[in-house]
This record gives sequence, structure tokens and C-alpha cells, in this order.
Amino acid sequence: MKQIIKNIYHVGDNECSVYMVDTQSDEGLVLIDAGMNLDMIRQINSHGILFENIQHCILTHCHIDHIGICAQLSRELSDIKFYAHELDAVPIEKPNHDGRTAASWYGVRYEPVKLYQKFTSDTILRIGNYDFQIIHTPGHTPGSISVLVESKGKKVLFGQDLHGPFNEIFLSDLQDYQLSMQKLLGLEANILCEGHFGIFQPNHRVKQYIEKHKRLNQPLL
Ligand SMILES: [Zn+2]
Repeated sequence: MKQIIKNIYHVGDNECSVYMVDTQSDEGLVLIDAGMNLDMIRQINSHGILFENIQHCILTHCHIDHIGICAQLSRELSDIKFYAHELDAVPIEKPNHDGRTAASWYGVRYEPVKLYQKFTSDTILRIGNYDFQIIHTPGHTPGSISVLVESKGKKVLFGQDLHGPFNEIFLSDLQDYQLSMQKLLGLEANILCEGHFGIFQPNHRVKQYIEKHKRLNQPLL
């Protein structure tokens, strides 16, 4: 695990990158996605941060590489609260959506988990001392969200799968995607935490990365 900026960490990479915000309050730790490897999450203990203190998990979308261990987490941490957009809620909460969760791609089974809150629009989630700005960014999946958090005057954007891929099984939509990327560019984030390609900063590198993928993924006319 590595600190990105005060109280914001890159927990590690296991299929997807998992990030964490320490709210410095009774609300404990907030995971941004969960990944597929519980042991990786447990390793936060070796950094003096308690695994047991994870109380929230914001899911950026319904893909197994981001949500695979949620059910395991909920067994170990009985009070953990999961959040996601309502348009990705069905594959997260119900069995037999192996296409939409991409579990069939990975050749594994996804174990559903109950969401504590389903976002229906852009909103601000106040957890402890932090505001988590939830931004609906459909494209990769209908219920994809991005999350913006500020630390030390810097805007940290958790963009996860803003690179794609895009396909019919995921119900991807490149027109929605174009609008979503435009929305993200408008945020002028200082740090981008991506789901598979690492961390980009400062501001102009974030812009460059988003613009590149926006350009590469134009809808067919
Ligand atoms: Zn994905």
C-alpha cells in the first residue's frame, strides 16, 4: 500500500486497482472498489491501519474485477456499507448476471452482495471529514460512477474504468461515454486514480489521459 496524498491510499492492484480514503473519524475507512483478493486488503494492517476499520465501500461499477470480494468482505466486516449506482445494482445484488459482471470472462462465479445505498443522480456523500462527490459517468457500463475527493487542496478523481472496454454485453454506450468524459474534464482534477493504468498527475496529465481515451472511443456514425 502507498499513500497518494494525505489520507488517500493506493491499496494495491489485483485485477483492478483498489483505493482507500481514511476519513479520520468514527466512520473509519472507505474503499473505492474492492477487487478480487481479500488478502491484499488485509495487508493494510501492516501499515498500522486496521482492516476492521473498513466501514464503507463505494463501487464504481458492476464488474467482477472491482466487486469480486464484496460478499467475503461483508461476512468479515458485518457493518460494512456498499454503495453503487442503481443502473448497475441488479448485477451486483442478484445472481446469474455473469455477462454484465464479466464473471464469465474471468471463468469465476460472482457472489452477490446487498447495497446499502443506490445512487440515482450525482450527489455528495459525506463520510466523516470527507465529501465524496459521486458523478454518474455512464459509458463503460450504464451505472458507472466516478468519485471526487479533495485532500490538501487537490482534487483526487477515482476514474476507474474510464478507458473502457466497451461492448454490448456490458451495455456500453459510446455516446453516453463522450458526455461522461466531457463532464470529467470539467472537474479539472489534479490526480486521477485509474482502475487498471495507475495514477496520473498533475492536472495536465489527467486531462491528457481523459482526452486520449475520449478521442479513441468515438461512437460510430
Ligand atoms: Zn469494468
